[in-house]
Amino acid sequence: MRLARRVEQLPPYLFAGISRLIAQQRSRGVDVISFGIGDPDLPTPRHIIESLQRAAELPANHRYPESDGLPALRQAIARWYGRRHGVALDPDAEVVPLIGSKEGIAHLPLCLIDPGDVALITDPGYPVYEIGTMFAGGETVHVPLREEDGWLPRLDEIPADAARRARVLWLNYPNNPTGAVADRAFFERAVRWAREHDVLIAHDLAYADVTYDGYVAPSLLEVDGARDVAIEFNSLSKSFNMTGWRVGMAVGNRTVIDALARVKSNLDSGIPQAIQQMAITALDGPLDELKRHNEVYAARRDRAVVVLRQLGLRVEPPRASLYVWARLPAGERSSADYAQRLIEATGVVVTPGRSYGEAGEGYIRLSLTIADARLDEGLRRLAAFATGAPAL
Ligand SMILES: *Cc1c(COP(=O)(O)O)cnc(C)c1O
Repeated sequence: MRLARRVEQLPPYLFAGISRLIAQQRSRGVDVISFGIGDPDLPTPRHIIESLQRAAELPANHRYPESDGLPALRQAIARWYGRRHGVALDPDAEVVPLIGSKEGIAHLPLCLIDPGDVALITDPGYPVYEIGTMFAGGETVHVPLREEDGWLPRLDEIPADAARRARVLWLNYPNNPTGAVADRAFFERAVRWAREHDVLIAHDLAYADVTYDGYVAPSLLEVDGARDVAIEFNSLSKSFNMTGWRVGMAVGNRTVIDALARVKSNLDSGIPQAIQQMAITALDGPLDELKRHNEVYAARRDRAVVVLRQLGLRVEPPRASLYVWARLPAGERSSADYAQRLIEATGVVVTPGRSYGEAGEGYIRLSLTIADARLDEGLRRLAAFATGAPAL
């Protein structure tokens, strides 16, 4: 069977090498503990589940949804942006609900990119930006992020030719995988850059509300005039522990939102309505559980940082995101080799930074989304490994 080039060109699955090692260790009877995947272990808050149960009983919710969502959901998203960010959105023109933000992120390039067009993608970064660009026939130009810059891109060093051919610049703060955050001044510079170069900014705000130590993450749309040149993706997945329910949103520039809604209406039929009801309940409801979840993650983060430092890794406690991003000890070059050694010696899985791009080499990422008891057992093994004692 001959498959299309776009499928043949797909990079090997990010964790292919790691998955093999995990399988190997398991077959030897090792109890593998994975810090690999960013998927909240804590359940969706009770009142949100109850609203789904009620909505599931209504026959009106058993039928095809509209692909651009219930007006009530678009209004709830607009209310959320008002309440959370002080940003006023037109629910009928500046909001489109998504079947998880990944869906919209993957489809956006179909709205912007013709063959030969460029997407600027920060490196290291979430892989979907690049895959969506490839599916649309576009080219990717990587914009490296560096620790010394707080993992913010040097916009004035983007090559002129790439900027001229670029249709979109992807940004993501709070950032996966580095945990870095951006302040409003950076977003102001980015909006100015986008205006000067006539490039759309697509900002991924998936970790808006997974924040620690009193940090409050801004929306790019808080910047004056941002919606002339930007859209923003947001998601209930990480903030409301709703990864399994698939609810996200794109908001901002109305021309682009309209294009995305049109593309989607030809590809999907929207979020199941009972789940849209659930999302409305989440967005309009109390936020005390979010605070409690973040306290759990922050406590895990603090315990992880102590042990990672014992291993000689250099790490700054992140102010947001579900990840600890740690620099390998001096003399270690390959994040994949280091991760492999950890699995073999301790049965603990971490993600090599190289999986997120060339600029991620030299780092590993640990996710804080595993239950406390498992996390502590994993950290116990790493601490033993640090002292040269047997970990398993
Ligand atoms: C998790 C994640 C998403 C996708 O979340 P959805 O569940 O599809 O809404 C998007 N961007 C980044 C950077 C993520 O880490």
